Amino acid sequence: MTSVLSYGHQNIDDDDRQAVLDALDGERLTQGPLVDEFERGLREYFGVAHATVCSSGTAALHLAARCLEWQPGDVVLVPAITFLATANCCAYVGAEPFFVDVDPATVTIDPGEVERHVKRLRSAGRRVRAVIGVDMAGHACDWAALRQIADRHELQLVADSCHAMGGRYSGDVLAGSCTHSDLAVLSFHPVKHITTAEGGALLARHSEHAMRAERLRSHGTVRGSENVANWEGPWHYDMVELGYNYRLTDLQCSLGISQLRKLDRFVAARRELAARYDALLNGLDNVRTPVERAGVRHAFHLYTLRIDFPRAGLSRRAMFAAAEERGILLQVHYQPLSHNSYYRELAASQGAERHLPEAERYYRETVSIPLHPGLHERDLVRVASMVSDVVCRGNPSASVVATSGRQGPES
Ligand SMILES: *Cc1c(COP(=O)(O)O)cnc(C)c1O
Repeated sequence: MTSVLSYGHQNIDDDDRQAVLDALDGERLTQGPLVDEFERGLREYFGVAHATVCSSGTAALHLAARCLEWQPGDVVLVPAITFLATANCCAYVGAEPFFVDVDPATVTIDPGEVERHVKRLRSAGRRVRAVIGVDMAGHACDWAALRQIADRHELQLVADSCHAMGGRYSGDVLAGSCTHSDLAVLSFHPVKHITTAEGGALLARHSEHAMRAERLRSHGTVRGSENVANWEGPWHYDMVELGYNYRLTDLQCSLGISQLRKLDRFVAARRELAARYDALLNGLDNVRTPVERAGVRHAFHLYTLRIDFPRAGLSRRAMFAAAEERGILLQVHYQPLSHNSYYRELAASQGAERHLPEAERYYRETVSIPLHPGLHERDLVRVASMVSDVVCRGNPSASVVATSGRQGPES
């Protein structure tokens, strides 16, 4: 039976199952020791001073916005192509997400455009506070350039590394390690590299950010005689600011601990599969495979093709339909933020139509094909054959089938 292939999928094994069962029998299902243990694991893996886990990557972004004290009237630069949450965290605190065009090859925020807009907005009297870079599809931003710009203009720098866990840049700097950014955000949604079902983390260089995030995660309360003014006894807590319940449970952390042990293996598997796709798809007419810049180790959260649909005489909808007929579910990551009704008016006021040509071009061309460690050689060949059949119809010499003789061990 041929299975349905989708762009992403969790990878759960017996160790994960046992870890969650053991956690169920633990003394505490939430606010227990597994939270500390998962946070310790994240600190060690990413080589970062502080880690605060929370209920989603979106929650982690919201905590970042609160820790950095963005306010109404502030402007935060975000890439025009990213998941909604990157921009929404600015809107949650009343700040304005400003949509910046992307590098045409890597689809990460374009540092030249960042600097141009910072100067322009500042000279128009706007309070530009921060930049959020997104390691799109798993390819790191140009963090060294962004850091220089942040230093030159006194900007805060946040890494949305939800796509890039286990990826590297500048040789061997880990994405999410806060080497260049003040804060980094991770997501443990099932399509990401490791999962806790829902979940996320805020990684930080500075203890004041981590302490703030931990307080906000739990209603903005403090406990203990050293923290509570006029402490009355062990029952006494004090809510010092408006916080949330953004906690991650011990059940989820047990899964996270078990998954984190496999992160390097997952990334290696994704990279091997991506290399195989490259071999199957490079050279097809009207199809471009993902770019990996020198010094970058792409984490391949997504495998995104760029397809010249007009030249191929094909619509993207027709491609989606043809793929679905063969049990292959494609996706698009993402439409420009400015296309969403909620942001359309804001984007127009920012002159989005003029200054986002690369984001628009990317959106016209992009298609994500299935990529996750559970795929086998036969699945990749099935997907690549579909791409070649559908996109290169009039050009049988470009067919993938001719190059698909190699069989993987699991086939
Ligand atoms: C997944 C993701 C998030 C956070 O998503 P959650 O589903 O809330 O964990 C944020 N930014 C990007 C770029 C993402 O892909």
